[in-house]
Amino acid sequence: MTRSLNGKVAIVTGAGSGIGRACALRLAEDTAKVAIWDINAAGAEETAAMIVAAGGSAIAITADCSDKAAIAAAADQTRAKLGPIAILVNNAGIAPFTPFLNTEDALFDKVIAINLRGPWLMTQQALPDMLAKGWGRVINITSSSVQTGSPMQGHYVSAKGGLMGMTKALALEFAASGVTFNMVPPGFIDTPMMRAAPIDAEAFAKTLPMKRIGQPEDIAAAVAYLASEEASYITGQTISTNGGRYMGSH
Ligand code: NAP
Repeated sequence: MTRSLNGKVAIVTGAGSGIGRACALRLAEDTAKVAIWDINAAGAEETAAMIVAAGGSAIAITADCSDKAAIAAAADQTRAKLGPIAILVNNAGIAPFTPFLNTEDALFDKVIAINLRGPWLMTQQALPDMLAKGWGRVINITSSSVQTGSPMQGHYVSAKGGLMGMTKALALEFAASGVTFNMVPPGFIDTPMMRAAPIDAEAFAKTLPMKRIGQPEDIAAAVAYLASEEASYITGQTISTNGGRYMGSH
């Protein structure tokens, strides 16, 4: 597979940690210029420094990816420093666990704002650059919890399910434009988010067909493929990267 992205500009949200960081490192390795967006400034700076130390090109931007004005400002900064946006990885997310009947409205709204409305706003901001060039990639990090269900995560699964639907709707709306929309629902991946979940990771891993937890790089590999030239005839699709946890087509 040709891995060169030829200096195309990629934004990865939530790239100061975990899966987003691995995606940013991998896209930079594949010669993208990467804008690391995260609400966590230190994490974003650290990822950008890792890329630069490895000889790649990256900038760190501190932004709340659920805030429309912050997104617009960060997009302007990205364009000014790197150029028009070609690849967008909507990865930033939060995944609380709360019983459905005790979930406050404010928490539901926050989970939807970050995990669903954020990607919606991000895509509205980035897509015009892609349409102008007739080339683009939007890759949404969803969750295997939509495919399997997940107790105590009604808010999160609702938001990620919405993101799955959005991916397909936009894939059709822009199918003839040269911009593809695809999604990667991670299974159980070793990141700070996963380690903070109220789950015994090692015990859970034993229930998985592959008997192991996935690594952020496993998700980054799927993202890199979807971002590549080779994936140009793939849109509205799902690469379930989950060690065999769920084997349905979507
Ligand atoms: P992570 O280690 O917690 O990383 C997420 C990053 O996003 C953090 O740096 C976080 O900052 C940042 N972030 C949170 N809210 C943000 C906002 N409003 N704007 C900008 N950045 C924000 O989580 P991860 O495990 O890598 O998860 C990445 C994505 O994969 C998420 O969408 C998650 O739902 C999805 N996913 C993960 C797994 C898994 O097993 N790990 C499974 C299925 C799906 P703070 O740390 O400061 O909050």
